[in-house]
Amino acid sequence: MKSFPIILADIFSTGMYKISESLMEISYKNGEMQMIYPYGFYYDYTMIILIPAILLTLYAQGKVRSNFERYLRVPTRRGYSGAQVARILLDQNGLRDIPIEIARGQLTDHYDPTRRVLRLSGEVYQGSSIVAVSVAAHEVGHAIQHANRYVPLSLRNAIFPVARFGSSAAWGFIMIGFLIPSLGGLMDIGILLFAAAVLFQIITLPVEFNASRRALELLDSNGLIYSVEEEEGAQNVLRAAALTYVAAMASGIAQLARLILIRNRRR
Ligand SMILES: [Zn+2]
Repeated sequence: MKSFPIILADIFSTGMYKISESLMEISYKNGEMQMIYPYGFYYDYTMIILIPAILLTLYAQGKVRSNFERYLRVPTRRGYSGAQVARILLDQNGLRDIPIEIARGQLTDHYDPTRRVLRLSGEVYQGSSIVAVSVAAHEVGHAIQHANRYVPLSLRNAIFPVARFGSSAAWGFIMIGFLIPSLGGLMDIGILLFAAAVLFQIITLPVEFNASRRALELLDSNGLIYSVEEEEGAQNVLRAAALTYVAAMASGIAQLARLILIRNRRR
């Protein structure tokens, strides 16, 4: 007879691969490179720690989908495309030398700090919907952060290489350390690598919230959105996008906590 927590863990584990697949999809689609980890590592009662993060992730995904679908269909009254909005706002902030390119795919919008290029997906580049102008202004927000040497962004860029290595290498170390008890030390190394990736996600939050705050101010002060409805729409779109970063961070922290529990139990 299985205990209740184990049954609960079983129920969640069946849905887990599906969820992690759709998480992968989000992280792939999001040009800003959110890092998301597979949940499918060793099922036991400690899975329960992951449940709130999983629910938050599902909620955030739903929010993004519904808000983007809704506001892609709402044109702004000014009628400027995302590319035009980005150009106006970049120029106004002394960033005439930053080119705007089209990125392939959906939700691939990002600012590339190494090449100093703003890339917008086709929908955003050409469209003049609330989504298009909001996302374009958000990416300009990142370009301004970079130009102003905004500290959380510099920190994030500095730990990115470690975090990227950590997120891919961690699971190898953890698995080997877990399966071969005499190599238990490897599990600790893996957990540390994983922690570096989680740290990256934590630093991502202020960077994202700040870029969205800048975006709303820029749109507002330049009259690029000028009704209460447009403002609300832009807020909804940017808030939903920000929530996916919160969810990614929550998943990262929950998984780290779970890994530490598993490690301590094996001592
Ligand atoms: Zn962003």
